[in-house]
Amino acid sequence: MDTKPAPKPFNAFEMAQRQFDAVAEQLGLNPAMRDLLRNPLREYHFLVPIRMDDGSYQVLKGFRVQHNDARGPCKGGIRFHPHETVDTVRALAMWMTWKCSVVDIPLGGGKGGVICDPHNLSDREQEAICRGWVRQVALNVGPVQDVPAPDVMTHGQHMLWMLDEYERIAGGRYPGFITGKPVGMGGSLGRTEATGYGVMFTVREAMKELGLDITKTKAAFQGFGNVAQYAVRLYRQYGGTPICVACWDQQDQTSYTFRRMGGIDPDELTAIADKYGAIDKDKARARGYEVLPGDAWIEQEVDLLVPAALENQVTGANAPRIHKQVKLVAEGANGPTTIEADKIIRERGIYLIPDFLCNAGGVTCSYFEQVQSNTNHYWSLDEVLTQLDHKMTAGFRAVHELARKKGVYQRDAAYMIAISRVAEACRLRGWA
Ligand code: NAD
Repeated sequence: MDTKPAPKPFNAFEMAQRQFDAVAEQLGLNPAMRDLLRNPLREYHFLVPIRMDDGSYQVLKGFRVQHNDARGPCKGGIRFHPHETVDTVRALAMWMTWKCSVVDIPLGGGKGGVICDPHNLSDREQEAICRGWVRQVALNVGPVQDVPAPDVMTHGQHMLWMLDEYERIAGGRYPGFITGKPVGMGGSLGRTEATGYGVMFTVREAMKELGLDITKTKAAFQGFGNVAQYAVRLYRQYGGTPICVACWDQQDQTSYTFRRMGGIDPDELTAIADKYGAIDKDKARARGYEVLPGDAWIEQEVDLLVPAALENQVTGANAPRIHKQVKLVAEGANGPTTIEADKIIRERGIYLIPDFLCNAGGVTCSYFEQVQSNTNHYWSLDEVLTQLDHKMTAGFRAVHELARKKGVYQRDAAYMIAISRVAEACRLRGWA
């Protein structure tokens, strides 16, 4: 009989707490402050009963976790997922607190969800879930308390159903209750570009610090979704040469890298991709692209690597294959680098822009949406992108300066800044 205990399943909240504990130690936070910040301030667990199209009833589980609102109302997405757990929601809420803090926007961290699978639900059933979710927490969320947004398997339509329910209860128009709304219905211009452009604003600044002329650099990207596409576009506008993207092929159930040494063209590639984003391999070859294995992106002879697909992609196993030419890794995705790979990148002296700074352009633009909705005054695209550049550049500079001053890794510096700002807000309010 095998007596080995089963491996403990990955718990995102335990990981988020471990990360926090390490930085709390470095910052010398007092025990009460540690207790306050390593746990959510508030959690709402509730049931969402809905009537199905066939007349039967289902009772779903819903959550809203508010990690910390010392710096401003909580902000964070709502996920619809069959495997959602409250610990994942807790971890994501905590990471939102640090993300908002590192780019210095006056918001805290929250996250929510409903355990359900939208693939098996009609639009009417999904609308019932959205309205049911809002009815359960309407008194505890809102423009000055906690502002939800889209996340995994939720989008603009879900946000509008939620907004409509909230406004019925509140008896007025409160577009600042929620973000991710379509443009024209309270949404912000620039949200589509925001995360990818934000990645590139930080890359531009890092290259200046590293003494690299961006027009003489090459880059490899993993992913060809919202984040990667706009990051590639702005990189080209800056004069850089993106040589490859890697993306998932739903039909083949594997990923491929599409490389053209003279430079890839994102418009050309989107024109030959299907609705799931999979690029047609024959058409790509006909346009001069090489079709390589999915993990080839990581070993290219480039200056910049941008993992912008999903978590756990740069690992202890493949990080040694990073080419010696690489000087910069910009984490467009959330959590793309494992702890083992982080160590390798650090030891090789590769400059890293950590995820919660690098991809904070999305939440920063959501904050702009909230400001526009609350004031009922909408900005031009140019205004949004100028403000976004300003925030991302300032966030990058603060992290870079601290890392240099203290001689610490950029990821540690980013955590130190984010956590100390939140701790200071709690201290000033007299909480700990
Ligand atoms: P997306 O769904 O639009 O695109 C994901 C891309 O990754 C697709 O091109 C897909 O083909 C590719 N991909 C999936 N599995 C792959 C694999 N095994 N190998 C290679 N490519 C693979 O998602 P997105 O919005 O671009 O988000 C990408 C990452 O950025 C995620 O980690 C997300 O959490 C993070 N992020 C996104 C935003 C945002 O505003 N969209 C904001 C912050 C962080």
